[in-house]
Amino acid sequence: MRRFRPYFRYLRPLRAKLALALVALCLYSAANGFGLPYLLPTVFGPIFDSEERTMALGEVARLALLIPALFLVRGAAGYLSAYLFQGIGTRVLEALRVDYFSKLQHLPLAYLQRYQKGDLSSRAISDANQLQYTITALASEGVKHPLSLVGALSYVIWAALTTEGIALALVCMAIVPLCVFPVRYVGRKVLKRAQQAQSQIGSISSLLTENLGAAREVRAFGLEALATTRFAKASRALLTAQMKIVKYALALNPTIEVLSALGIALTLVFAYRTGISFSSLMGVLTALYLCYEPVKKLGALNSELKRGAAALDRLEPILREPLRITDPENPRTLAATPRGEIAFEHVSFSYAPDAPRPVLDRIDIKIPAGTTCALVGPSGGGKTTFVNLILRLHDIDSGAITIDGTDIRQLRLAELRRHIAIVSQEPVLFNDTIYNNLLLGRPDATREEVIAAATAAHADEFIRNLPKGYDTNVGEHGALVSGGQKQRIAIARAFLRNAPILILDEATSALDAQSEQMIQDALQRLVVGKTVLIIAHRFSTIRDASMILVLDQGRLVASGPHAELYANTPLYRSLYDQQTTSPHAAADNRGTITA
Ligand code: ADP
Ligand code: MG
Repeated sequence: MRRFRPYFRYLRPLRAKLALALVALCLYSAANGFGLPYLLPTVFGPIFDSEERTMALGEVARLALLIPALFLVRGAAGYLSAYLFQGIGTRVLEALRVDYFSKLQHLPLAYLQRYQKGDLSSRAISDANQLQYTITALASEGVKHPLSLVGALSYVIWAALTTEGIALALVCMAIVPLCVFPVRYVGRKVLKRAQQAQSQIGSISSLLTENLGAAREVRAFGLEALATTRFAKASRALLTAQMKIVKYALALNPTIEVLSALGIALTLVFAYRTGISFSSLMGVLTALYLCYEPVKKLGALNSELKRGAAALDRLEPILREPLRITDPENPRTLAATPRGEIAFEHVSFSYAPDAPRPVLDRIDIKIPAGTTCALVGPSGGGKTTFVNLILRLHDIDSGAITIDGTDIRQLRLAELRRHIAIVSQEPVLFNDTIYNNLLLGRPDATREEVIAAATAAHADEFIRNLPKGYDTNVGEHGALVSGGQKQRIAIARAFLRNAPILILDEATSALDAQSEQMIQDALQRLVVGKTVLIIAHRFSTIRDASMILVLDQGRLVASGPHAELYANTPLYRSLYDQQTTSPHAAADNRGTITA
């Protein structure tokens, strides 16, 4: 229960609904807990307790109609409160789910990479669903049953005081406390199994996401059967965990029922000795039943709470994770059009705090505005990390990265990133129209500007040949857009963005020769007047860069123009020679310069 308290704030906007639901619930509980047992002696007593039936029929009917009237009140109030609580639970979880998603948008990449995608999505769906169920149950059952219990208890006490003395009430209630033990025992068991089950759903979801992402590889390598076996195994583990929950949760009801039957038997024996009338006894027994019913339901609710707690255990680490990379308190701003000079001052960075050696080690370099700067080095040397740091996807451990002399940590993230455009090896197209995909480059661009950018990127022609041109949906026609075409869309986005800093991370690695020619041509126009950081595997591109950085195992080994590096830097010379002399090296981007 305490676990859920921080999330009650999600209820605040729903106050009015909640109040109405609670009123309905009180009405329901009164009708249920007190009304039903009260009805029995009140209605049946006058009608049946006297031997000679002398009541006027109208009087009998008046009394009899109290029964449907009570059920009408109970039914309507019960329905209204259940309906309102369902709505409240659903809304709370909607808000929580959106918060979760929004959090995922802002968490540092390195943090997200610790999780599997499928697991993260199952948290948003399966765990959130479980939690919704729990919150709804908690809000309605958690109020309804205690109130019914209070209603029924007050009837028992009232009946005992007015007719038979308090002893009867005490006997009736003797068994109730015993029910606490099975409830707590089952709760503990369920919590553990529920944790297993929810994390197993996460594993299944990761398996599924991973598998669907590699549909081609599965077929090419003949992994169908293996993948199915793995999935079946994970699925079986989930089933086992779920069956264990069911095993314990289902055992609770019969246990409490047997205990309450014992209580009823005890009451009967005791009542016989006191000479109570039948209709009064029926009232007490009904009340007694209505006392045990909430106990039973609260026991089940306890199991439900444990399942909810297990779900919350999986959502909370994400919801609570502090955002380490945030806007500064007193942000500085760059000029409206920054020049784009980038400087690394003694920058060190590691992904893990306890890494044996940093991924980037005391890098000092100034890249003047308007320079085309190529990053070269063996795979794993730190090239991608170097450019990601400029975007502030990670925060550095020591030193400073500046743009036009301003530390990037002093800029608002949105401002920093607005001045940088990226074209990466595998550009992402979202499930939307081509036009909207282009617009991501700069959401306030006009249609003319979008088309001009597409034209400059050599994308206009193929886009016009799509079934609905710019309004073709990428999701529907994903296969129509080849790797090279995606790349040109990414370049068009960069044209639109027109940022002073441009990052090309292996933008041309995955392309065929014809696409590459077109893309090289588009890129040549794109880079004009910008500070460009380029990671490429073709030395033809690199050779022309005015500045080349050689990164090896996180250290900046050398920097300068091609001729100078070729003459003085053995690592650079060997990388260069390796590629230009071996005809296959250019296609194989591992082992040489990139990836
Ligand atoms: P390059 O782009 O030059 O191939 P990277 O910058 O991708 O090199 O990687 C540099 C080093 O950092 C490698 O040793 C790599 O294993 C490690 N690395 C890269 N990304 C991560 C990450 N998200 N978490 C932990 N280590 C990483
Ligand atoms: Mg890389």
